[in-house]
Amino acid sequence: MNVLIQQIAQQISQQIDSPFDPKESQQIQGGCINQALRLSDGNQHYFVKINHSTLLRMFEAEQRGLKTLAKSKSIRIPKPICSGIVDNQAYLVLEYIDFFPAQADSYRKAGTALAKMHKKNQSKFGWHISNTIGSTLQINEYRDDWVVFWQQNRLQYQLNLAQAKRATKRLIDDGTRLVEKLPLLFKNYKVVPSLLHGDLWTGNLSFDQQGNAVIYDPAVYYGDRETDIAMTQLFGSFDPSFYHAYNEAYPLQSGYQTRAILYNLYHILNHFHLFGGGYQTQAENMIKTLLAHLN
Ligand code: ADP
Repeated sequence: MNVLIQQIAQQISQQIDSPFDPKESQQIQGGCINQALRLSDGNQHYFVKINHSTLLRMFEAEQRGLKTLAKSKSIRIPKPICSGIVDNQAYLVLEYIDFFPAQADSYRKAGTALAKMHKKNQSKFGWHISNTIGSTLQINEYRDDWVVFWQQNRLQYQLNLAQAKRATKRLIDDGTRLVEKLPLLFKNYKVVPSLLHGDLWTGNLSFDQQGNAVIYDPAVYYGDRETDIAMTQLFGSFDPSFYHAYNEAYPLQSGYQTRAILYNLYHILNHFHLFGGGYQTQAENMIKTLLAHLN
């Protein structure tokens, strides 16, 4: 085992208050941002994310987000163990969970569980700390008004990042018009601040051996629950039984399809910021569709 892994193992040992001496270290594929490993001593297994030391705050926010989601006692979350810096690298250690294919009723149970999580409310939109979406800063500064939250903390923030990445004038001008007109999209819709995963694309939900959903890699805040549902339909989609069960437990309101475009625009703008390329045209088209609804 290299020095880095030995030092992380020491931190785990301290945290769990018993010796952990890994014999195996296995790379895990599938993440977008970090190096991921499974460390095992043959008996205990841990999931470890590693990145540059400057990204410690990202891991600390993820750890706090996982704890907050776990406290809702609604859906399985990998238990966070510890985070910190060793050997000039930031790390986050979580319980390792073996993932299995979905069972017949897994997506139905996942829909019900997510609805239960979304019923955890607080009075304001936002969260006590900002976190990251991908590796981009996500601003969670508290607001009383959801429209103001989405205008300032989400859309305008991403438009500023897009401008810094030399986005087209069309994207910036139309995006700015959308920010101004946003209250019109919310005329007959009342939003309550729900506990959100915040980055619930299909890659961030799996199933354990019992067929229960596990969600991970969150970007937690309190906001409109429709943002989570919209994101599950942005890059692929879950089984229809998921949406059926969710709607039965906590029905979505009319106008969801349009608001889903707005909510997913945030992620597409973020993808433009992180990866460039065709996401710019996709964002332009989404803004055009939304503006057409407002004319
Ligand atoms: P990144 O932050 O780099 O996007 P993820 O948190 O999405 O990384 O993790 C990468 C992959 O590792 C996931 O797609 C998932 O398959 C797997 N994974 C995530 N958390 C765990 C865990 N606690 N136990 C086992 N595998 C995990």
